[in-house]
Amino acid sequence: MANNQETVGGAKGMKVAFIGSECYPFIKTGGLGDVMYALPRALLRQGCEVRVMMPCYRCIPEKYRNQMNYIGSFMMNLTQDGRSFYVGIMEMELDGVTYDFIDNREFYDWGNPYTGLWEDIPKYCYFSKASLAALNYMDWIPDVIHCHDWQAALVPVYLRTLFSVTPVGAARSVLTIHNLRFQGICSIDHLKYWTGLPDFLFDYSVFKVNDCEANMFKGGLAYTDRITTVSETYAGEIQTDFYGEGLNSHLWYHRAKLTGIVNGIDIDIWNSRTDKLLPAPYGTEDVLSAKRENKKALQERLGLAVDENKLVIGLISRLTDQKGLDLIDAVFTQIADDGVQVVILGTGDARYENAFRYYESTYPGQVCAYIKYDESLAHQIYAGSDALLVPSLFEPCGLTQLIAMRYGTVPIVRETGGLKDTVEPYNEYTGEGNGFTFDQYRADLLLDAVRRAEQVYYGNRARWNAIVTRDMEKDVSWEHSADLYLKLYEELKG
Ligand code: ADP
Repeated sequence: MANNQETVGGAKGMKVAFIGSECYPFIKTGGLGDVMYALPRALLRQGCEVRVMMPCYRCIPEKYRNQMNYIGSFMMNLTQDGRSFYVGIMEMELDGVTYDFIDNREFYDWGNPYTGLWEDIPKYCYFSKASLAALNYMDWIPDVIHCHDWQAALVPVYLRTLFSVTPVGAARSVLTIHNLRFQGICSIDHLKYWTGLPDFLFDYSVFKVNDCEANMFKGGLAYTDRITTVSETYAGEIQTDFYGEGLNSHLWYHRAKLTGIVNGIDIDIWNSRTDKLLPAPYGTEDVLSAKRENKKALQERLGLAVDENKLVIGLISRLTDQKGLDLIDAVFTQIADDGVQVVILGTGDARYENAFRYYESTYPGQVCAYIKYDESLAHQIYAGSDALLVPSLFEPCGLTQLIAMRYGTVPIVRETGGLKDTVEPYNEYTGEGNGFTFDQYRADLLLDAVRRAEQVYYGNRARWNAIVTRDMEKDVSWEHSADLYLKLYEELKG
């Protein structure tokens, strides 16, 4: 407690700017959006002053656009040939956090918010530079600039080069890897043109990948003061060939400044007791009866056979290779033939969308493939399912297993990245553990994990219920991780 109080005291006056491409509730396509929302709030509770900077996309809902105030605008040189671009700053405050939206209609009037790398590279070169210029313009100089993923990876490079002798140049930088698969790779000429950065940066130690290509993430990782990623296991994994996405040697070289800090979830949004989207909100004391009601409502809504005794397995995911869907595809028939119900919510690759639609038509009343992005249904699936499947090929942290646990839904996961760090395997001898896990990326092992879950659910309900309660009681909030970030910022501030 004393320690905690010290931290809170130390945080007073710490100024942190978050720079990233998405943030809930304005725009969210995945876990990055959740983190950009929840971590600033957790830091605010610790006494920090936090500003979040993101692009002013046209697709931000009107109700938020209407609350934004115009702060100012200026022209900014960007490209190699000195073209200058308009930078507008729109601002709003939400629960104590200030949000600054970088406005430029040429870049942000279309897309959702990503379109294709060819257009996204200029968009985020502009965004990174404009964010620093906006901090100078507003005369709000943070102690630490916390950048997220490749879209903000140029910030540390600009900070130590073109901005080093400007006021914002006094700030230190942290770059967080949420997902290394996406890096912002393009031709050297394209990046040189859009960044206007000097030639010496297009070297193998910074941007250069090969004779033709440059990599924005690589440059940011070289120039940032600290690198974090979203779990300790992933921090180790990305220094290996298999998970390193071509940057493993670069990350190994910079390993002294790399740490893993696991994500939390916002426990106000993900609160089964107060969740207005649930037919029957619940806490640990009434989880068993309420989950039966939520399951019934889910089955009715999705056209599944209403049966409280069926094990319902949920899957809420982007439908891409990363998420281990080929494993599910390989053993789907066996899982379905066991008689369990499966609910899929997700969008992504046509290959997986079509496979799940096919299973829905093959197993009517037993399988539902809801191929959409739907926040409200997501809440109902977390509450109404018994188990949630996350068999990812790689998973930097993963939020769905954390949300599932908070809702008393037992995760079935592959032991990789944050899944390994957050789900303790069920031990059939002691009854301990939070979920069912498998290690190697093999469909037979996934099937085995699902069947172990079925055995406990159908064969030893008391044990199952104990896992449910334990999951709900697990601390998946941001508080501990926010402390760790704060310590990191304090070290940097010196
Ligand atoms: P990633 O960032 O790799 O997509 P995470 O597990 O970190 O995966 O975060 C996924 C987030 O997106 C979770 O909040 C999850 O509930 C949400 N989500 C994913 N797909 C959908 C969907 N189709 N509808 C609603 N929410 C979704």
